[in-house]
Amino acid sequence: MTDPFPPGTFFAPDPLDWWRGGCEWVRCSARLQELWAERLGSAESRRDKRDARVASLLAHARSRSRFFARHWSGTSPATPLHALPPVARDELMAHFDDWVTDPGIRLDDVRRFVADPSRIGEAFLGRYAVWTSSGTTGVPGIYVQDEDALATYGALLGAQADFAPTIDPRSVMGGPLRLALVAATGGHFAGVVWWQRLCRMYPLLGAHARIFSILEPLDALCEALDEWSPTSIASYPTVLAQLAAEQRAGRLRLAPRTLLSGGEALCETERSAIEETFGCSVVEDYGASECMNIAHGCRAHRLHLNESWVVLEPVDERMKPLPPGEPSFTVLVTNLANHVQPIVRYDLGDSVTIDAGPCDCGDERPTLRVSGRADDVLEFDAHHGEFVRVLPLAIETVLEEDSGLSRFQLTQTARDELRLRIDSGDSHERRRAFERAQQALARFLAKQGVANPVRLHLDDEAPQVDRASGKLRRIRSRTAGGADPSA
Ligand SMILES: [Zn+2]
Repeated sequence: MTDPFPPGTFFAPDPLDWWRGGCEWVRCSARLQELWAERLGSAESRRDKRDARVASLLAHARSRSRFFARHWSGTSPATPLHALPPVARDELMAHFDDWVTDPGIRLDDVRRFVADPSRIGEAFLGRYAVWTSSGTTGVPGIYVQDEDALATYGALLGAQADFAPTIDPRSVMGGPLRLALVAATGGHFAGVVWWQRLCRMYPLLGAHARIFSILEPLDALCEALDEWSPTSIASYPTVLAQLAAEQRAGRLRLAPRTLLSGGEALCETERSAIEETFGCSVVEDYGASECMNIAHGCRAHRLHLNESWVVLEPVDERMKPLPPGEPSFTVLVTNLANHVQPIVRYDLGDSVTIDAGPCDCGDERPTLRVSGRADDVLEFDAHHGEFVRVLPLAIETVLEEDSGLSRFQLTQTARDELRLRIDSGDSHERRRAFERAQQALARFLAKQGVANPVRLHLDDEAPQVDRASGKLRRIRSRTAGGADPSA
């Protein structure tokens, strides 16, 4: 896998991107004003606004998406949202051309677009943003966002500052600004696309921003970060926690003023360790490729649901609604912002608990907790006698992107031994997938500085979900977290 933008990459300026940036700025400012006005209004008026958005999305999906017209054929236009049948990614992706509401968007064209890493952040058909996600189950997802949705996501990000943890004002205005996104690169992933779009549309911002790849060996990543000395770092909680560990061990010397955590759940222990190490607050964000801004963290360390633009329904195994306080089996999400590819009662797969009581920060919106995926950091022998730590997300990205695996489970049983479970097709297909994984992992681990060859075995069994959470942990270590790899 090649990194499409090594540090210092700049795209050739395109006046059309600047024009798009100007238009998005205007739309985003209008949305922001609308959000603030809604917050000043009564709970009842906020509910009315949201109900109107739900009605508008459902009417649009019913009339313009052939997939939803069929999926809801047994219901009437008056059927309320919670009575409509849920939907999963595999089903939507199998009917992609019928799912989207703009007939100009064809899956073949979108596939060609996302196969080209040099087009990350480019406007598809001159107006849409496109990103992809592999997730933990089924086929990879491709998500198209319209201009209104993009403006809404920007406004939601802007509005979160009202209740967010206190941020050093120098990190947003005045003083030298150096932003770092530490992420899985090499594909059109949501965070990277979002970042790259902003850099294309606002060149001044782009000059102060760098993307760092988690696929780089940890030593090289730390060296590059030290050199850039970012004032603000955005990444996944597992990566921020690992960077904090590197900083404590003296292998990193960063002095950020803001840390942004997203993509996975952030647990309180991790948060304290990260904040204590770097001496600044972590601003948390909960979102998914299907719905970018589901909830934002507040200064009381809770996640507030963006209920004006998102409907979140925690449900049990039989898709029955659960009351506040009970952890869900999965959660159904409805994204009210994006009309070009409707996400309505979509099974996201996360376990979410809606809190029963109000939050101390003063924000009246409901708060929620998300169960972490709890994948493990793996450790291998290094040349210099110590060990190399490898981030679970980096291994997942290598197995997904370079080996084409989607549902798998990798367990480390010794410093030089891994066992892979693959959930796919016949034995011939599994064997070929395993050989691809073997080659990709060998290349990747050698690049990370792993000293001895690591033996990879193919398990006959299928990936097993965690007995306690019912979720699939994809990267596990026998030596970490008390996991039971034989499960
Ligand atoms: Zn709060």
